This record gives sequence, C-alpha cells and structure tokens, in this order.
Amino acid sequence: MKLIDGKALANTIKEEIAVEVTALKKAGGKTPHLAAVLIGDDPASAVYVRNKVKACEKVGFKSTLVRRGAETTEAEVLEIVKNLNEDPDIDGFIVQLPLPKHIDEEKVNLAIDPKKDVDGFHPMNVGRMALGLPSYLPATPFGIMQMLDRYDIETSGKHCVVIGRSNIVGTPMSILLSRKAKVGNCTVTLTHSRTKDLKAETLRADIIIAAIGRPDYLTADMVKEGVVIIDVGINRVDDASRKRGYRLVGDANFEGVAPKSSFITPVPGGVGPMTITSLLMNTLKSSRKEIYG
Ligand code: NAD
Repeated sequence: MKLIDGKALANTIKEEIAVEVTALKKAGGKTPHLAAVLIGDDPASAVYVRNKVKACEKVGFKSTLVRRGAETTEAEVLEIVKNLNEDPDIDGFIVQLPLPKHIDEEKVNLAIDPKKDVDGFHPMNVGRMALGLPSYLPATPFGIMQMLDRYDIETSGKHCVVIGRSNIVGTPMSILLSRKAKVGNCTVTLTHSRTKDLKAETLRADIIIAAIGRPDYLTADMVKEGVVIIDVGINRVDDASRKRGYRLVGDANFEGVAPKSSFITPVPGGVGPMTITSLLMNTLKSSRKEIYG
C-alpha cells in the first residue's frame, strides 16, 4: 500500500508556482491576482477563504478579499461580480459557496466571466471540459487528476467507479477519467444514491473515487486487492479524545481498505490540500492567458 500524500504534493506544486511567479515578475510581467468573495458568516466558509488568501501570499500572488455581511442582496453580489469581471488587474475570482439562502447561486455563477472563472463552475468551462477543450477544471477534480498524474498511476483501460454525482466532484471526475488523455482512458461507472448494488460495482473497480459524504461508507469487503482509492469525503465524527471534540474521516474505512489497496489518499492530508493548489494553478493559467488567449 502506498499513501498518496496530498499535503506534500500540494507543497511541491506551490513551490513550483512560486518559482514561476518570481520569474514572471523578474521578466516585468504582471503579478497574478486572485480575488475571493465571501458573503455572510458561515465559519467553515471563512476558514476556506482565509486558507485561499494565505496560499496566494505563499506563492507570491496578489489577493483581494471582498467580504460582506449576510444581509447583502443578490443585486449587490451581482454588482461585485460585475466589478471583478471588469477589473483588468484581477485574473480570476471565486465566490465562496454556500451563499445566503436569499441569493440565487445559479444566477451568480452565470454572471461570472468564464475567462475569470477559476473555480471552473460556469457552464462554459464545464462544457469545454466535457468536449476536451482547454478549460478551467473544477478545483477538486483538477487536484485528483494531478495526484494520479504525479504518482504515475496507470488509468488507461482501467475500470473506475465514481461514487457520488455532484457537479463539483463526482460528475466532472467521471467526465475527466473517461476522456482520451494521459490521465484518462478509463471505463467509468458513475454510481449514486439510486445505484442498486454498489458493492457489485466497487468490487470490479481498479480505481474508486469516493465522494459521498458518509463516514466509513466504503468498507474492506467492497473492494478488490490492489485497488486505487481516492477518498474525497470530509466527515466529522465525534471524538472525545480530541480537544475540539471531533475528528475528520473520509468516506472510506481507512483501516479496512488500506491493506487491500495499491494507492490510497488519507483524510485529512489527501485530496483536501490539493483543492487550493488547483485554484492557484487555474489563476496562473488565467494570468498567462492559457485557456482563452
Ligand atoms: P454532495 O453531497 O453534493 O453529493 C453526494 C453524492 O453522493 C450524491 O451524488 C449522492 O447521489 C451520492 N450518495 C449519497 N448516498 C449514497 C449512497 N448510499 N450510495 C452511493 N452514492 C450515494 O457531495 P459533494 O459535494 O461531492 O461532497 C462529497 C464529499 O466530499 C463530502 O464529504 C464533502 O465534504 C467532500 N468534499 C471534499 C472536498 C475536498 O477538497 N477534499 C471538496 C468537495 C467535497
């Protein structure tokens, strides 16, 4: 069993980005600039955004945080998006989800200029991804693709079972892994809450991407020897021995499945750290005008 160390890989990639940014600045180029919009007072969102801003500083990007209260109207959010779309110094921006209930997330997403959509959630980027055209890949799937690539995990001809069909993880993973590409060429089965016999599917899998959001859901009896497991789940379970009263676990029962797997991502320290790195990579691509010219 080999552990896929997302934390170490994310640090390596951040160092690579920092080197590129230094070179870019030395050559008189513009400093990549990422903005984050945070509306409301969701504590988890505040932590995510703070980490994104910190990561920008670490690699030498400029970062801007636009923070507004929970009472902000939809029109005001759309105005913020419009200003960021039009600001020539901003290479990319994200609107942290979830937004307060009275704001239509779909409307906000559609208002983002696809050229600056470094989260890769706009239909233009999703469509381009599905067609195999250059696009900003959504952060978590992009991070997983990087892991498979950098750990030289063979995907061609493999049977991959994706568990969960969300727009941000499961569905894009199923598209990316079935594409004709260096990391790709898998035969993909996309499973979800209505799948009749999940165990029958996972037992046939060479690669499993688990993105369900249920602690310890994937157990040892559900996987075959030598499987590659990418555990996307982040679940809190009560743990009185921890100061904060809980610990984070994935969707896979790590102790059970790890001995059977050839590669596995831990939780925490696996997919999570790669997500922010992807955002930085997309912003760098935007500042280099790699996707849209
Ligand atoms: P979601 O909650 O939007 O969707 C869950 C999916 O799981 C659904 O498609 C549903 O059909 C499927 N599902 C539910 N029960 C199932 C069952 N019994 N059998 C098979 N499929 C079932 O999920 P999401 O936003 O993709 O998040 C999934 C998990 O990944 C969560 O724990 C989330 O916190 C985590 N996550 C982690 C990162 C990261 O950076 N590591 C990023 C995004 C999400």
